[in-house]
Amino acid sequence: MVSRVIPVDPFDLVIFGGTGDLARRKILPALYRRFCAGQILDCCQIIGAARSELSNDGYRQMAAEALREFADVSDIDAVEVQEFLARLHYVQLDARGEDGWQELARLLSEDRIHAFYLSVAPSLFGDLAERIAGHGLARGEARVVVEKPFGHDLTSAKALNQSLANHFDESQIYRIDHYLGKETVQNLMAIRFGNLLFEPLWNSRYVDHIQITVAETVGVGGRGEYYDRAGAMRDMVQNHMMQLLCLIAMEPPARFEPDAVRDEKLKVIRALKPVAAHDVVRGQYAAFIKDGTEYPSYRDAVHDPASTTESYVGLKVEIENWRWIGTPFYLRTGKRLAARSSVIEVVFKDTPYSIFGADAGDKANILSIRLQPNEGITLEVTIKEPGPGGMRLINVPLDMSFSTALGDNEPVADAYERLIMDVIRGNQTLFMRGDEVEAAWAWTDPIIDGWEIRGDRPEVYPGGSTGPTGADALVARDGRVWRTIRP
Ligand code: NAD
Repeated sequence: MVSRVIPVDPFDLVIFGGTGDLARRKILPALYRRFCAGQILDCCQIIGAARSELSNDGYRQMAAEALREFADVSDIDAVEVQEFLARLHYVQLDARGEDGWQELARLLSEDRIHAFYLSVAPSLFGDLAERIAGHGLARGEARVVVEKPFGHDLTSAKALNQSLANHFDESQIYRIDHYLGKETVQNLMAIRFGNLLFEPLWNSRYVDHIQITVAETVGVGGRGEYYDRAGAMRDMVQNHMMQLLCLIAMEPPARFEPDAVRDEKLKVIRALKPVAAHDVVRGQYAAFIKDGTEYPSYRDAVHDPASTTESYVGLKVEIENWRWIGTPFYLRTGKRLAARSSVIEVVFKDTPYSIFGADAGDKANILSIRLQPNEGITLEVTIKEPGPGGMRLINVPLDMSFSTALGDNEPVADAYERLIMDVIRGNQTLFMRGDEVEAAWAWTDPIIDGWEIRGDRPEVYPGGSTGPTGADALVARDGRVWRTIRP
């Protein structure tokens, strides 16, 4: 299936932190792919800005290496690579100093969109916003893009919001949660609101419970220092999982427009019941050996034998509104689990009465929406077990992989490609609004504070497993079981 590419309006994009890891791994490769797709016009400029001393040529050389490593570019002398690199410039500047800003101002063309990507530590957001505005660059069609982590708690998130709001209007601020840029996450809205079939059943009358799983097989890797200060609750639940929960639980927005969608997501967050201590389980992975390879424990990986940071969290979430009261949402996410899998599983209630008798067995319909890998949907439907011997019921999957259904000869755009183009187009639908971020922290903070006040320690779980046994007990208490984590 071939998608249409409509070029975006002319723009200059400044990447503050243009020499950093995110710029090299995600932002530059994403821009390169959009350039190759014909979405970025030749007149556009991409300006790296960072503290290192580099010439334009030095920056282009760095970008070429990043493309080779992260965008699978084998021939960096190819015409389209050289054409892309020619769009790049570099300015040496310090977010906290004045040097370099005049040069940046001179480079920016008049009468076009200016996007400022703050790919730096959040502690620099305020300084950068102040200088961008102070040098008169926040005018007209200017947008500012910021990355997670958007705060460490409600207080820090409010301070960050304020530091941006001092110089930019909310309509100019794009808070990236790259999960929202994933094709399949957007598909959640298409599945819910593009099909008549599901929506009438999408409530506590018909849905027994919903499970949201984001399981990783990797450990903390090189992110140990950051991760140990954050933990799974701040790193995954407060942002990515909260967004999934909102999309799956929200009311139909009046239109597919930024504020209509974001208003509905905010209503879900505001309707969340505070989580009781016994409804959350934390875990930390132990060392394990797989296929002869030894993997370190969480504590070894973060070089802190006394760390109490969680690499797993499982929790029961309740939404106090008419649609969902009585239907729990079970969320779990963790590292070093049995398989890599992000999936939403909607478990419907049993039929009100079985005409086939107790021996036939009750089977509930289950709708699984797989976000990664192998994106697709499966609907478990109940049929008669084939053969003679009476009426016994079994569940069989109606299984659809999107790549099979759509043909997978065209690569799917990466989340950053979509999100950066949305920034240029001025479409905020897939970006978090300030009040959404704050509401999510207001719900998360008491859970984390509770752990600290109680001196709660995470339960150790075996690497390569499905998580701590406490998480199994959490759902078993309600007479339910976690679905199998499968790739
Ligand atoms: P990094 O440390 O690799 O790069 C930081 C960049 O900021 C460098 O270019 C550096 O020169 C520049 N910089 C530092 N101090 C500066 C100053 N005073 N003035 C001007 N420039 C300065 O960091 P990163 O991994 O690229 O992350 C950037 C931001 O994106 C962080 O907020 C991070 O949390 C977030 N983020 C990163 C990733 C990722 O995959 N790397 C993923 C999600 C979010």
